[in-house]
Amino acid sequence: MTDLGNFEDNHLYIKRDDLIPYSFGGNKARKGLLFFEDIDAGDYDTVVTYGSTRSNHCRVVANLAAERGLCCILISPKEEDGGAPTFNSIYTAICGARRIQVPVSEVHDTIEQTLSDLRSKGKKPYFIPGGGHGNIGTRAYVNCYEEIREEERELGISFDYLFFASGTGTTQAGLVAGKLLHGDEIAIVGISIARKNPRGRDVVVASVREYLPEEDPAVIDANVAFDDAYIQGAYGTASSGEQALIRQVMVQYGIPLDTTYTGKAFYGMQQYVRDHAVTGKNVLFLHTGGAPLFFDDLLAAGGRGDET
Ligand SMILES: *Cc1c(COP(=O)(O)O)cnc(C)c1O
Repeated sequence: MTDLGNFEDNHLYIKRDDLIPYSFGGNKARKGLLFFEDIDAGDYDTVVTYGSTRSNHCRVVANLAAERGLCCILISPKEEDGGAPTFNSIYTAICGARRIQVPVSEVHDTIEQTLSDLRSKGKKPYFIPGGGHGNIGTRAYVNCYEEIREEERELGISFDYLFFASGTGTTQAGLVAGKLLHGDEIAIVGISIARKNPRGRDVVVASVREYLPEEDPAVIDANVAFDDAYIQGAYGTASSGEQALIRQVMVQYGIPLDTTYTGKAFYGMQQYVRDHAVTGKNVLFLHTGGAPLFFDDLLAAGGRGDET
């Protein structure tokens, strides 16, 4: 937890999940470490998961599998650029993960086929949903929420707002579930990095319901704020405003943000507090990681010679 001081007439703090000390950290490390507790408790020899060549999730899973000497198979959608190498995809290759690329429409069947082929060969595969989705991933962010409460106590403050990048919504589902378990007041605002509503929000609501089946659905519904107003173009592309803010945050605080997730969320947070006239509040930004994406961006920008 770092105090960043004044931000648009609010007091801004940042929680650095990008510094979780495993495989460049991030929310995929927090989730992946819990999935592997489940894997370690069972009798598995192969891990299968899904993600693109840019996926932070695939990097962490490939690393955790390699550490244990487990075989790792990554199912990836065929990408427009033909799946050019990224820091994450190079990392997974070094870890010895096998990547199977298929058209996105065939991903579901390929996963099923891969799992059944492995089983028929006598292998014991464990499947991790893309991005570490599901109750285990949600629990990882309930744990994060508990840490935030602990840090509030240590600082002697309470946060009014919590902002972060929301993709599949598992991170958000865990944070919201944590809030509901404690009956807290904090406003949890997921900044969508890709999905539009109602789908983006519906997935978060469904994940919280799955995790807290006893909770009143109306209460869950009232606590899921998934804001799709700051996506700014296609997944992974950044507006000039976002790029300028990424540069500012890097120079001012020495904190790296990427154009796909954390930069978008930080920019969305800035726009949100302006659009909703939020002032005088304690605001927490959760940095969800993505260091290799930061370096992909840096290389692309350096190649163009426009940003450094
Ligand atoms: C995957 C990812 C997210 C989104 O997390 P979800 O749990 O899918 O919403 C945010 N930030 C980074 C850096 C990520 O890799």
